[in-house]
Amino acid sequence: MFTMQKEFNLAIVGLGGMGNWHRELIETIDGLTVCGSYDIKEERQQFARDHGITPYDSLDALLADPDVDIVLCSTPNDVHKEITIRALRAGKHVVCEKPVAMSSQEHLEMMKAAEETGKVFVVHQNRRWDEDYLTVKKIYEEHLLGDVFKIESRVHGSRGIPGDWRQEKEHGGGMVLDWGVHILDQALQMIPEKVQRVYASFTNVTNEICEDGFTVELTFESGLVYITEVGTSNFINLPRWYMLGQNGTAVVKDWDLSGEIVRVTDWSKNDAVPIRTAAGLTKTMAPRTEDTIRTEPLPVVHSDIRDFYRNVMDTINGTAQIIVKNEEVNRNMRLMEAIFRSAETHQSVSFE
Ligand code: NAD
Repeated sequence: MFTMQKEFNLAIVGLGGMGNWHRELIETIDGLTVCGSYDIKEERQQFARDHGITPYDSLDALLADPDVDIVLCSTPNDVHKEITIRALRAGKHVVCEKPVAMSSQEHLEMMKAAEETGKVFVVHQNRRWDEDYLTVKKIYEEHLLGDVFKIESRVHGSRGIPGDWRQEKEHGGGMVLDWGVHILDQALQMIPEKVQRVYASFTNVTNEICEDGFTVELTFESGLVYITEVGTSNFINLPRWYMLGQNGTAVVKDWDLSGEIVRVTDWSKNDAVPIRTAAGLTKTMAPRTEDTIRTEPLPVVHSDIRDFYRNVMDTINGTAQIIVKNEEVNRNMRLMEAIFRSAETHQSVSFE
């Protein structure tokens, strides 16, 4: 039998770059409406008016409005905890931007408030819907390269840290909390194993206070090595993904999903004719001949980021389980804390 689903009103706290991204996305989602916003900056209050949204005069006024069902917290990271807990205690469901908070401990406090109020509290780990990630995850899960022994996941830019609160520690700046939170979450989601060892190094090329890049090596229980890297001084980008299995290699060059899989078709012709380089000879590094390998297109997976909000609404309606679980988010926060410990001590550390 068809049942009428409730329409939900969402109010945005922090109508900056990402708050506005949500506003535009929500315009395309059935059953969900942006009913208002609040930002501490008058120019962003005016931005709301200019875009047909009535801004509330204060956070209190927003939380006191019984028409608001869901609060989106898209402020800088240091105020996520306070705003989320206040919204939950005011009887609202909460969608909170990533990183959920400044520490795993703060996140536990937010989870406790959600449990006490019985409201849905979910973190916007939107890059679980990235098509490049979903495609690589499919290659891994369907064993298309045989046993995978190494994965490299990188995001590279060349503009340093954006010139806002992301450069300031007290607001939760730095690339671990900003981008690491996405690509580490992807690693933990893709590989269903415990992480045995974490080793991290940071870069401070453009910023002394906050790390403007990092390389993290995660060793999973099976021995699989998973490298994650964020760079902001990279004028030539390495591929977004590089995956090595016993029977082949996959590369995804960028978010546009260009790339390929190369698989071995004939193991019997392993010995190659040596090649000469300027100063030597090598058989080991001689390229494979075409008759022993096959190049295939990527098994591209498509996604729809609106499913994030559809899942939030279905969870509130009691017809679905939340996809981004707080236990997973907390594990990722603890991983990032281990990364800071490793970078400080120059040692491998464990966290679970
Ligand atoms: P931004 O600086 O563009 O916007 C933040 C806004 O919050 C500003 O307009 C600021 O005035 C307002 N603000 C600050 N403190 C406030 C408070 N106490 N109450 C109300 N408003 C307040 O930053 P942004 O790039 O939009 O980032 C916001 C959040 O979104 C951050 O947590 C960031 O990590 C996250 N983010 C997520 C993604 C993603 O893909 N999931 C992408 C970008 C940013």
